[in-house]
Amino acid sequence: MDFAATAIIDTAALKHNFEVLRRASPGCKVMAVIKANAYGHGLVPVATALENADSFAVARISEARALREAGVRTPIVLLEGVFDASDLQAALALDCETVVHCDEQLALLAASDRQPGIIWIKVDSGMNRLGFPPDRFAGVVAQVSATCEYAELRLLSHFASADLDSSYQTTAQLHTLKPLIESWGGGLSLANSPGGLRGLAAGGFSATDRDVWIRPGIGLYGITPFEDGGAPEHEPLVPVMEFSAKIIATRTIGIGDRVGYGGRFRADKPMRVGIVAAGYGDGYPRMLPDGAPVLIDGARAGLVGRVSMDMLAVDLTDLPDSGYGSAVTLWGKALPVGVVANALGTIGYELVTRVSDRVTRRYL
Ligand SMILES: *Cc1c(COP(=O)(O)O)cnc(C)c1O
Repeated sequence: MDFAATAIIDTAALKHNFEVLRRASPGCKVMAVIKANAYGHGLVPVATALENADSFAVARISEARALREAGVRTPIVLLEGVFDASDLQAALALDCETVVHCDEQLALLAASDRQPGIIWIKVDSGMNRLGFPPDRFAGVVAQVSATCEYAELRLLSHFASADLDSSYQTTAQLHTLKPLIESWGGGLSLANSPGGLRGLAAGGFSATDRDVWIRPGIGLYGITPFEDGGAPEHEPLVPVMEFSAKIIATRTIGIGDRVGYGGRFRADKPMRVGIVAAGYGDGYPRMLPDGAPVLIDGARAGLVGRVSMDMLAVDLTDLPDSGYGSAVTLWGKALPVGVVANALGTIGYELVTRVSDRVTRRYL
């Protein structure tokens, strides 16, 4: 193992999680969400490993381009669609499916002499982020059908609170979507990872008599979307990323000694401290507090002092056998990234997507 921060990506775990998510939504196709460098896990290697995906979803044209340049032939969906005429031409050249969520995008389609083969019409069922109001769905379908006569149209919507147990918002969104789904014979995609794991893929309808895609992202990477508990029963997901580094120095300090920038941490007893070759330049969050969890040679220990750009310090006082060269797990199978994220008041999604370019990713 390298001394410097390294992310080991377990592609067998990735494939396992994919199958868990697929089994949780029987009869559905899987649009694997690999935006943001596959949530920090590496766009192309993740796409290559997910050979059973029915399609991939990305947020940026640049992500679609990187996939095509790497030879990925699987359908690619642009989750936010295109933003101007040159984007639309690029999306066509890359053979992407596109989302249409606003009037500006309807105008772009109408003005183009070529159109995508598959167009996802996004309905805002209550999240108030992207999409047409539900009562415009039929009208937008008619309009797109008229300007894009060869395109296949599909319905897309997104749950705001599928991660929460018994969410009133989810119930309200399902209620809003019900008449649309009832009268829509085409393809349908509603559920992110928590939605799929809650059985919401087809919005309460059967997924066997219509084409339904689930859109899991976070679950593929083995990270629970249910941060606040209240998770439905599901097969276990296995964390895919092992983010680790090694100890490159140790020292002993006395009462009153301080560690790191600003002297935030002050020892109230004699201590042994290890310096680890990982910092915020690698994507390990600088704002983590003293005591934030790490594993040293597999044993739980705590962060001491502010995280630097290239280094951080850990408390080795109770781990006399650990020292120079010891492995430090920042997060991974034995320390879920959500636990670390919790110490910072954020979610695992943010931490994995922040793992920086300079971190070597190794694929198992
Ligand atoms: C990112 C994203 C997803 C994936 O959500 P997860 O919670 O990571 O499963 C699904 N749909 C849309 C529209 C997204 O933007």
